[in-house]
Amino acid sequence: GPKSKFSIPEQRQSLPIYKLKNELIQAVHDNQVLVVIGETGSGKTTQLTQYLAEAGYTTKGKIGCTQPRRAAAVSVAKRVAEEFGCRLGEEVGFAIRFEDCTGSDTVIKYMTDGMLLREMLVDENLSRYSVIMLDEAHERTVYTDVLFGLLKLLLKIRPELRLIVTSATLDAEKFSGYFFDCNIFTIPGRTFPVEILYAKQPESDYLDSSLLTVLQIHLTESKGDILLFLTGQEEIDFACQSLFERMKGLGKNVPELIILPVYSALPSEMQSRIFEPTPPGKRKVVVATNIAEASLTIDGLSYVVDPGFAKQNVYNPKQGLDSLVITPISQASAKQRAGRAGRTGPGKCYRLYTESAYRNEMSPTTVPEIQRINLATTTLNMKAMGITDLLAFDFMDSPSPQALVSAMEQLYSLGALDEEGLLTKLGRKMAEFPLDPPLSKMLLASVDLGCSDEILTIIAMIQTGNIFYRPREKQGQADQKRAKFLQPEGDHLTLLAVYEAWKAKNFSGPWCSENFVQSRSLRRVQDVRKQLLTIMDRYKLDVASAGNKLTKVTKAIAAGFFFHAARKDPQEGYRTLVNNQCVYIHPSSALFQRQPDWVIYHELVMTTKEYMREVTAIDPKWLVQLAPRFFKAVDPTKTSKRKRQER
Ligand code: ADP
Ligand code: MG
Repeated sequence: GPKSKFSIPEQRQSLPIYKLKNELIQAVHDNQVLVVIGETGSGKTTQLTQYLAEAGYTTKGKIGCTQPRRAAAVSVAKRVAEEFGCRLGEEVGFAIRFEDCTGSDTVIKYMTDGMLLREMLVDENLSRYSVIMLDEAHERTVYTDVLFGLLKLLLKIRPELRLIVTSATLDAEKFSGYFFDCNIFTIPGRTFPVEILYAKQPESDYLDSSLLTVLQIHLTESKGDILLFLTGQEEIDFACQSLFERMKGLGKNVPELIILPVYSALPSEMQSRIFEPTPPGKRKVVVATNIAEASLTIDGLSYVVDPGFAKQNVYNPKQGLDSLVITPISQASAKQRAGRAGRTGPGKCYRLYTESAYRNEMSPTTVPEIQRINLATTTLNMKAMGITDLLAFDFMDSPSPQALVSAMEQLYSLGALDEEGLLTKLGRKMAEFPLDPPLSKMLLASVDLGCSDEILTIIAMIQTGNIFYRPREKQGQADQKRAKFLQPEGDHLTLLAVYEAWKAKNFSGPWCSENFVQSRSLRRVQDVRKQLLTIMDRYKLDVASAGNKLTKVTKAIAAGFFFHAARKDPQEGYRTLVNNQCVYIHPSSALFQRQPDWVIYHELVMTTKEYMREVTAIDPKWLVQLAPRFFKAVDPTKTSKRKRQER
């Protein structure tokens, strides 16, 4: 593709941060903790690490830089490797869950915040690092928040360690206050005014109106690229396809519109295309998730279209689980989005909501993840690090005591904690796996049941997702192929059957396209599987196959997901065992026709109804047998007492 007309050194020297290089190095030298703030695109993520490497920090250890998003960690590492003049995985590398692209030469390491937390499980003093940069800290992921507390303690133990926290302007004071009133280093921004345009009336269909807005900008506004924020992959793919068709409908006299999707699951070659300069006479529209809000800097944008929504992980305490929900963004988010239009010149931001909605309905800032998600994984990790009293932990913003108690209850019912809330042997093993507790429990149960070979595959398939594809023009054919894999026991075994069939064909690529299965996903499954196997080996856990005794496999699934049991309702659908909620088997499920009396599901997805996804038939007798602690805990008297308190 076309490359920028400036050389890499020229590009680097033109960044706002460049003039402050020496001052920054000095400030890091003089201050053990430093909060660094600066506009998106000023060069914090890509340059700071390199400056510190030049200044000699890599002679004493690595420079680690965390990112809340996987895709950002990969993309940024690629760019920095290019600037540094090495291959990815040499001096500059990255590590995300199930993918480690670092080597013995790696001195600048980009990683997700979750990965750094996992490193602290094995090396609590982070002895391999001389500098840690907690980047995009304003995102306030649960991992970043836990790292805050752990690093705050670590700084006292390791006076030579340097910590840099980068953030959007808003939270700088708060971060500084938390970290012993440390200094704040500001990189003066180069920003241009952005005109904000609001919808006159609330939009009933934000997707459609966002597409109309994009086309209207393309047809009537002067040059400059467009950034449209949508909530997820499906929506983005749909929007891109729809824009493509509408552009085709406009004929040949209209200037070309280059349509580029951006989301985490997109292959990185595709993602790199967003950084290529737009050829003269054409216009680019980037259709992205929240990742483009601050984590990725795209140059040349003049127009932002902001429907005002994002997908957020939200914990539903009544249901006892997390779900991804499309929620209105905060004012802080909206400001950040608008700012994307004013980096290279004056811009415009089209907010597809009313000014009154912005002022009166949107909250000023986003609630930190730690205050809204299920804390079972976090609690297990912290316990494994020897933090016994979570209520006393120095969180920047504490989770509610109820949320901690409910996480502990879940871990107790899984057998990971004992009556005193201390980690059990099983719990310690569970913490070794980069999986949520129900999944790691399922894996360890499968070791005892003698079916870990199958469960490893099932977990890898579930973690990867996006296994089947269904092209618009060949849906019937795709469904027919898929039907061949369906197993009477349910979707977990169906996933297993797909992988086994692929394996029997020697992991063939053409087989995937013939069967409407994503080969990229399956290769990733293979990879995830291998990594989990390595951990199994390390802890001498048996890998055995159930052969044709598939009941063992369904039992292992139930051992991890018993709290997702549901029973057929004589009226319609199913009722969850935990709170009697009405749920349905999704039409795409292997069990949609059969509708067995008892099932367990992997997750609930709310579309037109509350649907269970990845459903497997079970024998209810197993439940009490596999999870005696849980079925004592959902004792009816206890439930009614809780209900009373809620009122
Ligand atoms: P910040 O972290 O302050 O938001 P970055 O360090 O991410 O800024 O970005 C600095 C510059 O590097 C931006 O102008 C951006 O366009 C450029 N850049 C970042 N990643 C890439 C990439 N993958 N390809 C090309 N340019 C990039
Ligand atoms: Mg950045």
